[in-house]
Amino acid sequence: MNICFWDTRARSVSKDFAGGFGVGMFSGRRTLSQRLVSWGYHRDRRPVALNFAYLAAIFREFGHQVEYCADQTPPAADVYVFNPALGTIDIEQQMIRQLAKSAPKARVLVVGSTAYALPQEFQSPNVTVVRGEPEQLRTKLDEVLETRPAVVDVGSVKNLDELPWPDWSLFEPRRFAIRYDFTRFPTGLVQQSRGCTFTCNYCPYIMIENKTRFRDPERVVAEIEHGMRTYGFRSYKFRDPLFGLDRQRVLRLAELIGKLPRKLEFSIESRIDLLRPETLQALREVGLTSITVGIETPHEDTLRTYKRAPIKDDRQREFVGICRKMGIRTVAGFMIGFPEDTEESIKHVLHYAREVNPTYANFNIVTPYPGTEFSANIKNLIADRDYRKLDVYHAVLKYEHLTPQQVLDLHAWCFEKFYFRMSYLRDNAHLLWPVLQRFGIGVGKVTVTPRPRRMKTSAAESQSEAA
Ligand code: SF4
Repeated sequence: MNICFWDTRARSVSKDFAGGFGVGMFSGRRTLSQRLVSWGYHRDRRPVALNFAYLAAIFREFGHQVEYCADQTPPAADVYVFNPALGTIDIEQQMIRQLAKSAPKARVLVVGSTAYALPQEFQSPNVTVVRGEPEQLRTKLDEVLETRPAVVDVGSVKNLDELPWPDWSLFEPRRFAIRYDFTRFPTGLVQQSRGCTFTCNYCPYIMIENKTRFRDPERVVAEIEHGMRTYGFRSYKFRDPLFGLDRQRVLRLAELIGKLPRKLEFSIESRIDLLRPETLQALREVGLTSITVGIETPHEDTLRTYKRAPIKDDRQREFVGICRKMGIRTVAGFMIGFPEDTEESIKHVLHYAREVNPTYANFNIVTPYPGTEFSANIKNLIADRDYRKLDVYHAVLKYEHLTPQQVLDLHAWCFEKFYFRMSYLRDNAHLLWPVLQRFGIGVGKVTVTPRPRRMKTSAAESQSEAA
């Protein structure tokens, strides 16, 4: 069979992020400093979504011909696969409609989080919406093509080690670059686990499956080595939403990464309270360059309202400080634009972000991702139902104290005020330009005292110990 992956790179949407719903990039244009921040974001060429690379490997294993087509009229094929993002949903819908006319005998499979949450948006006689993890098609593709259901629930992959390694060869992997994390390119994506045991009610990562599943560290590092050899990857972004959950696995992974024949840069995403200084040090020694963390807001009541377990203020500051000293970038997410937010509460988020002073601060406008508990709870407060605006850069709610335009203005203002100040450069210059670290600038010795095993400081760490 000929199978074509159809994709769009329009609107700078990174489809792998936000649990597969995709996120845009900051595109402020009003002032010179906004333009500079926007330029910093747009230098990236983010990798194609990991699920496409997995499906390419799976389909090839079964002897099918696979092709990739981005933003063009697709070639003739038996099956077309789409992985729409919310921010580009109209583009994908239009191409699916076009295929219904130009290739009525071909089957269209729509996969990913947007398809999972909004199956009704893709109804057409030639379409099957595949709800669940698309890699399940490795056992269900023939049945789906034969029975031609409008919607099929395929569930999630129980044993991640049974999956083949992602095949990136179709997607121009040598152009992939994530510059906020790395200095070496191209950049690949990899996972050592899926799912998250926490229950933040706005989070799209736990929509399909929140039970955590792990891969064998040996297989993960073998995949990385294969990617370095085959596609020339010199950096890898781990796409686990909660990388630090199982500390013993993390340490084993660090040990194996340290044995790779070439030096690798890699980045991870985790809750702050899952990563102890000694774990950070072990990861830093073998190439960790950047950690994405969600700080969200300093308002603990807000966090509790949306079922996010707060982390102590001093722990967050200490964590960013330790990373800074070790030469690890921190990419911190902050949320503004909750329905009850005021100008003062948003300014307080900015003030806190400036005090913690991570290398990058992503100010995200609260987004009601369809299918999440948060979205259901506040459905009467959603003012703008244009899915394309669910990209963390649009204000789509009815706010108690602010207009959507005020939220947008405050959002742009947060970006400007965070980056353009001397204390930002003072703390982060050696991370933005790591060459400075060779002269001892910014980095220093961190005294690491391993904690006794029984000393647990949070619910999160309790889970880490138990995992
Ligand atoms: S910790 Fe919360 S926000 Fe992060 S992946 Fe888990 S549920 Fe989502």
